[in-house]
Amino acid sequence: MSRARKPDWLKMHPPSGRRFTEIKEVLRDHDLHTVCEEANCPNLGECWSGREGPGTATIMLMGDRCSRGCNFCDVKTGGMEPLDPEEPVNVASAIAEIGLEYVVLTSVDRDDLPDQGAGHFARTIEEIKTRHPETLVEVLVPDFRGESDCIEKIIDAEPDVIAHNVETVERLQWPVRDRRAGYEQSLSVLEQVSETSEIHTKTSLMLGIGEYDHEIYQTMSDLSEIDVDIVTFGQYLQPSRSHLEVSNHVHPAKFSTWRQVAHEEFGFLYCASGPLVRSSYRAGELFVEAVLR
Ligand code: SF4
Ligand code: SF4
Repeated sequence: MSRARKPDWLKMHPPSGRRFTEIKEVLRDHDLHTVCEEANCPNLGECWSGREGPGTATIMLMGDRCSRGCNFCDVKTGGMEPLDPEEPVNVASAIAEIGLEYVVLTSVDRDDLPDQGAGHFARTIEEIKTRHPETLVEVLVPDFRGESDCIEKIIDAEPDVIAHNVETVERLQWPVRDRRAGYEQSLSVLEQVSETSEIHTKTSLMLGIGEYDHEIYQTMSDLSEIDVDIVTFGQYLQPSRSHLEVSNHVHPAKFSTWRQVAHEEFGFLYCASGPLVRSSYRAGELFVEAVLR
């Protein structure tokens, strides 16, 4: 299936426009890396320009090498580098210069660090809130092996949204994710945030890995049970032949059905669902529309 021709709805359009060029130049000047560009994300033009609301970009913190190795992910594993102590200020300065309205901060997993990078995340959020308080900050964090003091550091820095991805349904956690990750552990991260703060919570699933409808339904039920606010669904695409194969290409109509179920049956604040949706897809626009208007 993975080598079958991709359906038309997965065709990508190259980004362009004044806002795109402007953001790209400032990020280059600050030597910052976005997931948007590095993952060659199909939504780049749409997200950065934010046609109907705040533009969104996703910045990767703490290097480009991960201490874990998930079977769906193209990030390099091992050979961890020390943290750049200037990164929080550097990121905040770039965001202030661009005047970015909504930023998603994410990172590789840093199991090699004593606090797994939680303090670095927190400092970056605080620097952004100090230098450009208008920017809404979403963080897409690792599971921190479920350690509550790490999650607490993130909560205390007061981002606007804390996201952590369950990635797939419970049965498929392995072989999809690194063995150190897990469904219950990921739910516990989200639960700690929703139980101890007013910060909005968010999670994402990739579809087309071999999950059954009833398992997607059950996942939404589990998320709703612990008061997760936002959920997204996108098609899994195999980054290379050595990664996990695609099981099926989910039709856009099916994605629409899941969006409807998420809204009408489970009452999520919003659900982004579509073949090319990624966890941070138009996050600024959708957040403002669903939460702040
Ligand atoms: Fe990729 Fe995240 Fe898995 Fe690391 S933990 S391999 S960055 S998905
Ligand atoms: Fe960037 Fe996320 Fe939008 Fe892709 S979906 S362009 S990674 S903000």
